[in-house]
Amino acid sequence: MKKIVMKFGGTSVGTGKNIRHVAESVTQYAKDDYRVAVVVSALAGVTNSLIETACQAKKSEEKHIETFSKQLLQKHLEAIETAITSKQIQKEVTQITEKTISELEKVLTGICYVGELTPKSKDYVASFGERLSAPIVWGAVKDHKLETQYFTGKDAGIVTDSNFGEADPLMNFTTHLIQERLGPLFEKGIIPVVTGFIAANQDGIVTTVGRGGSDYTATILGVALHVDEVWIWTDVDGIMTTDPKIVPTARMLPQLSYQEAAEMAIFGAKAMHPRALGPVIKENIPVRIRNTAHPKNMGTLITKEPAANETKPVKAVAMIKDVAMLNVNGAAMVGAPGSYAKVFDVLGKNGINVMMVSTAVSEANISMIIKRALLGRAISNLEIALLERGGVLSEVTAEDDVAVIAVMGANMKGTLGVASKIFSTVAKKGINIRMIAQGSSELNISFVVKEKDGVAVVRAIHDEFNLDKN
Ligand code: ADP
Ligand code: ASP
Ligand code: MG
Repeated sequence: MKKIVMKFGGTSVGTGKNIRHVAESVTQYAKDDYRVAVVVSALAGVTNSLIETACQAKKSEEKHIETFSKQLLQKHLEAIETAITSKQIQKEVTQITEKTISELEKVLTGICYVGELTPKSKDYVASFGERLSAPIVWGAVKDHKLETQYFTGKDAGIVTDSNFGEADPLMNFTTHLIQERLGPLFEKGIIPVVTGFIAANQDGIVTTVGRGGSDYTATILGVALHVDEVWIWTDVDGIMTTDPKIVPTARMLPQLSYQEAAEMAIFGAKAMHPRALGPVIKENIPVRIRNTAHPKNMGTLITKEPAANETKPVKAVAMIKDVAMLNVNGAAMVGAPGSYAKVFDVLGKNGINVMMVSTAVSEANISMIIKRALLGRAISNLEIALLERGGVLSEVTAEDDVAVIAVMGANMKGTLGVASKIFSTVAKKGINIRMIAQGSSELNISFVVKEKDGVAVVRAIHDEFNLDKN
């Protein structure tokens, strides 16, 4: 018997019909003697719309709330009707849905009156997407006469730090609680259906583990339940040489090492949450990315070892959007010990993660890539630091219309000429490179271009390195 955590992404549970398909698939595996625990995302698009509405509510735009709640209720009621046949179960899930949406309406109205959306309240609002989807999936599985129980991430025992919006689990405590709460029923063959993405801190306040975080929930559960594999069901055949929405001929990569997959996730391959592999690496639990629409394909297998007989230096290319470039200049930084530390200290204290750094030998400049949404906070806090008497920083500038292009592959290490081939490909397109960085691991080379040029660059590199061919 195999034990598997199966995570179904937003597109896999986008409609009632898709949810029904998910329930059928889970039923089939359960009948084939698999022990299954299910993790679900919100219905496609719901998390975005929740966050958007919360942001509108903050501006005291109350009129949107009622319309939004009605539409959201309608969407979920339609899904319930198609996904579940038993009238009794439909009724049960409808009641949960109505109650949940009326709570959401109150929360949004509260935000509207207070005129403030803190990271904490934003997480609370975002959590409603999964709180609405999981009961429907639970109902659909129950409809297939399987024994199943539904949990929020908090009830399942996922306890995180209080870094709202990007929380991380306290893994030992979480493992203990999950084993206590889910372990016995999982062992009996009862199927736990758990909300992805959401958890709670030690005080029981709802947190989220970052956008796309249901993958992370799945690996956390996988470790706690000692499963054989974690399966991430999505809308593509696996991790591919690039986003198939940019290059339709992108090829599925049948096997990747944890290190390669993590590198790809960090550098924008949306198919996987960047921190999701953390828990499974330690326990050596394989992860598979599979297509809900093509269940015969075994997808991408992610394990400790990279695929044998892979010789290509470049395996994949990705574009990271929604970033900004921040430049700090200052002649006084030259030879002044601690000046870089000062910059990173200011950013770190304000919760701004630096994704990429490059500095000139002259030391008069540091360029950094951060999330675009954090740019305002970064500039204002650095400017406050600039005003310090005797400070070494003199000017902060930014470009918010850039994208990072990351070229990846474990075999790039030590292969001569990869960088020159990449940069001459970009030059041939007449596109200017704004910044370059190569990690010392040599697993990737990343550079920055204007966002409008990003797609053309990805296509050109995919083509130049023949990534569509094995
Ligand atoms: P889910 O809702 O299942 O979590 P996501 O939207 O988070 O799905 O991730 C799947 C999407 O990731 C695909 O539809 C694809 O467009 C995008 N994507 C970007 N880069 C890659 C890549 N290298 N391999 C596979 N998918 C990718
Ligand atoms: N629903 C969440 C999001 O859209 C988590 C997930 O889908 O994995 O980010
Ligand atoms: Mg995802």
